[in-house]
Amino acid sequence: MKYVLAIDQGTTSTRAILFDRNGHLLQIAQREVACLFPKPDWVEVDALAIWVSVTDVINEVLIKSNISINDIATVGLTNQRETTVVWSKKTGMPVYNAIVWQSRQSIDICNNLSKYQEVIQQKTGLLINPYFSASKVRFILDATKNGQQKAENGELLFGTIDSWIIYKMTMGKVHATDVTNASRTLLFNINTLKWDEELCSLFNIPMKMLPTVCPSAHDYGSLSYLKSHVHITGVLGDQQAALFGQTCFEKGESKNTYGTGCFLLLNTGDKLVFSKKGLLTTIAWQIGDKVTYALEGSVFIGGAVVQWLRDEMHLIKSSDDSESVALESPSGGVYVVPAFAGLGTPYWDDKVQGAVFGLTRSTNRSQFVRASLESIAYQCKDVVEVMQEETKIPLKLLKVDGGATKNRFLMQFQSDLLQTEIRLPRCLETTALGVAYMAGLQCGFFKSLDNIKKIHEYQAVYTPYVDKKEVDRLYEGWKKAIKATRIFK
Ligand code: ADP
Repeated sequence: MKYVLAIDQGTTSTRAILFDRNGHLLQIAQREVACLFPKPDWVEVDALAIWVSVTDVINEVLIKSNISINDIATVGLTNQRETTVVWSKKTGMPVYNAIVWQSRQSIDICNNLSKYQEVIQQKTGLLINPYFSASKVRFILDATKNGQQKAENGELLFGTIDSWIIYKMTMGKVHATDVTNASRTLLFNINTLKWDEELCSLFNIPMKMLPTVCPSAHDYGSLSYLKSHVHITGVLGDQQAALFGQTCFEKGESKNTYGTGCFLLLNTGDKLVFSKKGLLTTIAWQIGDKVTYALEGSVFIGGAVVQWLRDEMHLIKSSDDSESVALESPSGGVYVVPAFAGLGTPYWDDKVQGAVFGLTRSTNRSQFVRASLESIAYQCKDVVEVMQEETKIPLKLLKVDGGATKNRFLMQFQSDLLQTEIRLPRCLETTALGVAYMAGLQCGFFKSLDNIKKIHEYQAVYTPYVDKKEVDRLYEGWKKAIKATRIFK
């Protein structure tokens, strides 16, 4: 059999992608999934719509490729992390919309537990924040009639999106999740690799609801809903899948995804590294008994600053224009701090708002656009700096993906700023590719990690050409801008 089928269930869309033995993308099908915004700061999605989108894209990719499901060697599944579904064991129907990772609706639940921050970080590697699943489960149980009672009776099941899709694909035979998804719930102990009784009782979540946790490379059951014997043999949260898809298999290797926000992950090998500066400790993957860990830093506004330039400021017509407009004039000493949603790593400052510094009478559109693009790179440099400080692992090279990597100005500036080589892979669907690699490894479609490294290809390499002194001077300016921004609250 010639293909691996990867399902990538993201926040705004679901994709099905067929890969061949060389890791080449052969066919893709995509469906948008509408997010719902019942109140300001609340983000939900219909869990059934997610499941329908998965079945749609699988059908479409098979039809477009003129093959049947039985021509597939194996299926890999990757997903938006933390998003939470609770459904009835009896009917398989959700009892509430899925609550999306971005949603802040469970903030009060988190605020009430803030005194447990230290123990929570030591057990889960995370921060108490509505972003992660536990408070969302609590919210749903409270919002559902007799929710707590039903959960205690074993009538309700919880899962992140991977779990939900596996449950549906196997027609309710398998209620499972992989370690990477479990590690984002605030309920999973990343030291013992088990659901944690104390954490579950803090959130008053009955352990009966929780899925079985399995390695990332594992047989999760077959696609019974299609009466097919094809199995799901790889499951990973999206950022971990991208790390794997960028072949960051060794300790010290890292990738950065430049999407709406930016997510930088560093493989820390078999070592758990706990951060004092706002990095998250997470599981990168588990193959057999071997667990690999990662540190993760996030920038809330990455490519989104380009959308802002286009849709709100009307300074550019299309995202692609940002590159040519930025190159129209040299840097004008302007700094844009796009803290529209607070600041992520290493600041985790909810209250701060955006700001602009260094304007003069001659500041023009080009310099403003340029400074906005530069702000993406500066924020990523902030993450790299704390990662290096806390791990003592020097950054040798950065592998990149995501929509904003199209921007050559941004990539070159990032390379200059980090004084590091930047590599862009041939296949930009690294999330799907990563889980295809994982599923393929498990079923023998790909022979080994070495074999994957050999077939993995790159399309562009950026190397620094501005000298370090100049870069240090620019970065000093950025740090001043951040400091000033945080005063204005
Ligand atoms: P997500 O998965 O978060 O939806 P994508 O990886 O699809 O994100 O990337 C979308 C982001 O990339 C958008 O925020 C968009 O503004 C940005 N983007 C797209 N093209 C460019 C470009 N040429 N230059 C800079 N940013 C871009």
